[in-house]
Amino acid sequence: MVSRVIPVEVFDLVIFGGTGDLARRKILPGLYRRYLAGQIPENARVIGAARTDLDDAGYRQFVNDAICEFVKSSKHDKAHIDAFVSHIHYLPVDALGDAGWNELAAMMRPDVIRAFYFSVAPRLFGPLAERLHDHEIADGDSRIVVEKPFGRDLKTAKALNGVLAESFDEKQIYRIDHYLGKETVQNLMAVRFGNILFEPLWNSQYVDHIQITVAESVGVGGRGSYYDKSGAIRDMIQNHLMQLLCLIGMEPPSEFEPDAVRDEKLKVIRALDAPDPKDIVRGQYRAGDDTASYLTDAENPESKTESFIAMKLGISNWRWKGTPIYLRTGKRLRERTSEIAVVFKDPPHSIFGEQEGRRGNVLVIRLQPNEGMNLRVTIKEPGPGGMRLIEVPLDMSFAEALADGDDIPDAYERLIMDVMRGNQTLFMRGDEVEAAWAWTDPIIEAWESAGKKPVEYDPGGSGPDDSLMLLHRDGRRWREIKA
Ligand code: NAD
Repeated sequence: MVSRVIPVEVFDLVIFGGTGDLARRKILPGLYRRYLAGQIPENARVIGAARTDLDDAGYRQFVNDAICEFVKSSKHDKAHIDAFVSHIHYLPVDALGDAGWNELAAMMRPDVIRAFYFSVAPRLFGPLAERLHDHEIADGDSRIVVEKPFGRDLKTAKALNGVLAESFDEKQIYRIDHYLGKETVQNLMAVRFGNILFEPLWNSQYVDHIQITVAESVGVGGRGSYYDKSGAIRDMIQNHLMQLLCLIGMEPPSEFEPDAVRDEKLKVIRALDAPDPKDIVRGQYRAGDDTASYLTDAENPESKTESFIAMKLGISNWRWKGTPIYLRTGKRLRERTSEIAVVFKDPPHSIFGEQEGRRGNVLVIRLQPNEGMNLRVTIKEPGPGGMRLIEVPLDMSFAEALADGDDIPDAYERLIMDVMRGNQTLFMRGDEVEAAWAWTDPIIEAWESAGKKPVEYDPGGSGPDDSLMLLHRDGRRWREIKA
């Protein structure tokens, strides 16, 4: 296979929060994998910056350990790791004080791309942006990368956008939603807009409904008190599921270019109906045989925060009016799995008789595990015995399709390289984030004023019974939650 990877220019990447959990688990191992793929230029530098008092050698050891823990062992070649960590540096910097800023300014090189990854708590985004600006560390070509959560409602998101806008142009701001970095998500665009097959059917005339499920088998233990302040709607719906919905629902952009794509996504959010309260199910997991309840994990016996949500939505535009979209996400469910299912309508008439029934096509886009796509089609069962119909999957599993088997780049590493290439297509624009909050806020406000507790559900299943009813009453059913 001929590689057509777009080259990356020499860069200085400063990771604020370089000693944190996200840097250790995702950012640094991801950079190492890109190094192995030959995508880190020879003179590029990665500079960890955090409050911890470390020197280069100490931080290189930290990076070495992160690689050994989070990159698969077949890639732990000592010579490669040593060569990679020679790109790594460290500087103690205080986002809220003066320490480290003059030193950081002195470290910057002219004529290389500068990127600043804000892998820190959101309350530090503003102070970091200000200091980068005031110390003239960031130039007009620099990029900043900000992590979720981007605000907790429209007001805070606007305030955050305002603070960043004081020091940076929108073209310099990369708001990460790692779901957009997944191979499948990009493939969704390739399949939709690179083929003639699907687009004519991609509307309410042919699509019966769409299901988006992001299920997790773990509870919120460990980060329970943090999670309890957000809940499933803030933690998952407003960002990840909304982004997936946009990619499924958007009109074809005129070109695969950041603003063209993001303009179309924004139109989907703006066309989303406010959901009817009876079309929303909120749940909290109960205790299991050896697992704690949500209330215990959240350390809040009175909590009214949801660990599960299912909702039915409508999009009011010509393409989608009449096609319901069902979203579902939750903790402590049967399996860890994420998928989008586009369920097409049945053929209008079954020429094979009623007993063969009517069978619809389903396009399933799997985000995890086993990233891939699968189109269910009806065929005749092979062999003698008359015209018996069966359903078979046309399967496209990316792991097998890629030369290096299970080595699909992680979403983070793909997105970091996009930052270095200056490509914002897979990052959220400020107005998108605000539009998503503008849609979410009234839903949360209505819950808060009603003061109702979510319904309980058993751990290890598919959520509350009311969630099943949400589809049953429309004559539909959820796809099974399975890995
Ligand atoms: P963490 O608590 O593990 O690490 C925080 C980092 O910030 C540390 O390196 C710490 O030294 C640094 N820091 C704290 N105060 C500082 C200051 N005043 N000046 C300079 N540095 C300071 O946090 P994390 O889990 O790595 O998360 C970082 C960000 O990423 C958060 O915004 C979080 O919401 C987001 N995020 C994390 C994950 C994840 O999997 N951990 C996933 C998605 C988003």
